[in-house]
Amino acid sequence: MGSRRKFLEKVSLTTVGLPLLSTPLNLFATSCEPYEGPILKVAIMGLGSYGTRVAEAMQTCTRAKLVGVISGTPSKIEKWKEKYNIPEKNCYNYENYDAIKDNPDIDAVYIITPNGLHKEQTLKVAKTGKHVICEKPMGINAAEGQAMVDGCKAANVKLLIGYRMHFEPKTMAAIKMRQDGEFGQPKFFQGQSGFTIGDPTQWRLNKELSGGGAMMDIGIYSINGARYMLGEDPIWITAQETKTDPVKFKEGIDETIQFQMGFPSGAVANCLSTYAMNNLDRFYMTGSDGFVEMQPSTGYGPIEGRTHKGPLPQPHVTHQTLQMDGMAALIYDGVQPIVPVDGEEGVKDMKIIDAIFLAAKTGKKVEL
Ligand code: NDP
Repeated sequence: MGSRRKFLEKVSLTTVGLPLLSTPLNLFATSCEPYEGPILKVAIMGLGSYGTRVAEAMQTCTRAKLVGVISGTPSKIEKWKEKYNIPEKNCYNYENYDAIKDNPDIDAVYIITPNGLHKEQTLKVAKTGKHVICEKPMGINAAEGQAMVDGCKAANVKLLIGYRMHFEPKTMAAIKMRQDGEFGQPKFFQGQSGFTIGDPTQWRLNKELSGGGAMMDIGIYSINGARYMLGEDPIWITAQETKTDPVKFKEGIDETIQFQMGFPSGAVANCLSTYAMNNLDRFYMTGSDGFVEMQPSTGYGPIEGRTHKGPLPQPHVTHQTLQMDGMAALIYDGVQPIVPVDGEEGVKDMKIIDAIFLAAKTGKKVEL
């Protein structure tokens, strides 16, 4: 653990820089002493593809630990128990997880299930008194997102959204450069987010479970990215939808949407979200005095970035490891990441998605 600590120390202090964090560092340790503070003990709900990735990444966390599971598939529970040394008393299914309220060994539940289930699961977890970490998109519309924020507030628990890019070193460095004025006045953002989706029977193409198509899944990266790269929230949206395969992409499941966003400063963004094209993972932001290009921009990494000053040198660290250590620091020490990961941040993206769908449907400019 010592060498990793030194590595993270290097990432945060040398290449990214302390001012990125609003309070002095707990996210990454600054001494070589072993970490002795509180550990965020996490149960993962939904042992699918991304849940598995998060579990693996958590094996090298310093401040967060996988201690429990909630799953509808008993065979997966057995496998995870053995692989991650999870005791039987920390294993639940979707019918009995309200009993987590009586389990002092679990501090937070990380919801990694289909989008359409997030709201109900978040509210149920909040009632147990445990913190909620929920994957993006936080729900299937802004009203759901707001209900989740309100429910977690009422239960006095944190609601954090799995925005892993907010902990990614090159992304953080680009945001810091923008905050320091190194690009001058931000003027334009281009985001391209997409891949060709396979199996037509998967939940991602089922409106009830997904809430939409590519926009909910991958387009959200361009929305969130436009906001953190430009440093503003949009005030208007226009959008155009294209559908080449109405059998695979049924009513309410978007295949490809181009959308434009206008910002209070006059900056504009032009983005593409698609389930029908590969190799789309690129952000470009230009300001009056410089530019930054990230490609890949939001994949699992390594992220690559360059600016008018040259390549971004920050090393790759597994995103979900940084995210979970960062979320533990946020929960226990109030250390805020460079861009928030709270429920309110999630609601902002959901409002934009609602507006994009409305603009695509009506052909009209939607004011936010
Ligand atoms: P998967 O289909 O791979 O896994 C979802 C899991 O949810 C299932 O394996 C299952 O686990 C559980 N589940 C519960 N109810 C259902 C249901 N009715 N239908 C299907 N699965 C169900 O999806 P992903 O892991 O790829 O995605 C899950 C969430 O994570 C989504 O919200 C997605 O947007 C988000 N995500 C985020 C990423 C990121 O980079 N931040 C990347 C990928 C996904 P079990 O059998 O244990 O009950």
